[in-house]
Parts: sequence; C-alpha cells; structure tokens
Amino acid sequence: MRYAIFADIHANLEGLDAVLADAGTQGVDEFACLGDIVGYNADPVACVQRVRALNCPVVLGNHDEEAVRNHPLDRMSPLAAAAMEWTRNQLDEEIRRWFAGVRLVRQVRTMTLVHSSLDSPENWTYVVNRWDAMASFAYQFTPVCFHGHTHVPAVYVKRGRVEQLSEMAVKLESGTKYFINVGSAGQPRDGDWRASYAIYDNEAHTVEIRRVEYDIDLTQKKILDAGLPELLANRLGSGR
Ligand code: ZN
Repeated sequence: MRYAIFADIHANLEGLDAVLADAGTQGVDEFACLGDIVGYNADPVACVQRVRALNCPVVLGNHDEEAVRNHPLDRMSPLAAAAMEWTRNQLDEEIRRWFAGVRLVRQVRTMTLVHSSLDSPENWTYVVNRWDAMASFAYQFTPVCFHGHTHVPAVYVKRGRVEQLSEMAVKLESGTKYFINVGSAGQPRDGDWRASYAIYDNEAHTVEIRRVEYDIDLTQKKILDAGLPELLANRLGSGR
C-alpha cells in the first residue's frame, strides 16, 4: 500500500490539488489527512469537501477545532484570529457536525496519525526538537507516526536514543520507530514555498517527503479578494 499523507492545508485549494495530482503520478493507493484543513487561506469549504471526497482517515487540527467552536479567539495571534473569524463565517452546520466527529489520534494498520504530538494531542504541543519527539515516542505503539502542526517537515527516529535525521527520504528499519512531520500542503514555513506532503510505502518500508509547485498567484489573489489580511498572501510567497 502506498499512502499520501498531508497536513496543514489551511484552506489552500491550489496547494491541496497540487499534492493530490502529484500523488496521482506516484502510484498512491490511499490518503490520510493530519488536520488543519481550514484557517488562514480562502478556500475552507472546498478543501473540506476535497478531503471528505477522498474517504480517508482524518485527524483534527487546532484550527479545525477553533473553527467549529465559538469560544473567544484571544489565544490566537491577531493574524490567525482575523482569519479564523472569517473562516467561521464560511462553514455551515453540516461541516461543523462533520468536524465534531473527527478524532485527535487514529491508528491505521502500521501507522499512527496525529496533528500535534502523541503525549498531549489535545493541548496542541509543538514538536520542534528531539526532546519534544522523545515525549511523543513514549505514547507511540506503531513503527511510524505522522504529524504536522509546525508546518516544517522533520524526521525523528528512535533507536535507543532519539535523533533527528536531515534526509527527507528514509528506508524504515525494523525494530526502530519513526515520528515524521510531513510539512504543510497549504502554508509551508521552512522557507520553501512549495506544498509539502509524504508518501509512505508500507511494503517497500520507505517514507519520502515531496515538494510540489502550485498556482500560488491564484491562491494569493483569492486571499486578497476575500478581504483576508494581505500578510497571509505574502507569507505564502516566502514560505514562512
Ligand atoms: Zn497548521
């Protein structure tokens, strides 16, 4: 089975479509979505519908949670809060009900799916180094776990000690656990504007993080046309 695993779409339809098109050229059989389908960019409804049409496992992201709950937005940055208010107005009751049924963690065969981390998924903790990864590994019972949330691809490995690898294509060794951030399909923050996602082959035992170009001009135009903050369009260009 070859899985395309993507995260942090953030209502960037062109980013998501580019990922799905690239996956189509890579012999992918199945998909998995690691949450934050909405927030920041201008196509929340279309992105939710695309993901639902894939009929794939989905876990909840913090922006998804914020979008369907009506509590105050004071915990978010002003930029995220402005976008969230706009996003809340786009989502209808049916989509809200669908999100309400999406879980925080899922186990699918040999892999675990989570948006943030396994040690406290409901607190949306960020895994940014091997010490954070170590805490998550304590709750990981499958050989591989995929996550997102930081919008920066990363590969952590636990063989005795926990290390972060620099390579973005790995051969999975048996008896070793992997905690892999697939990067962001809709708002990358590692300085590379291209959409990011991972392909996991559970027979060849490989994971590859791929980057794909998308129609960023169109995404930026939609953001401005929607009246969303201009900074959200600009940051896509710089990949920050
Ligand atoms: Zn996100």
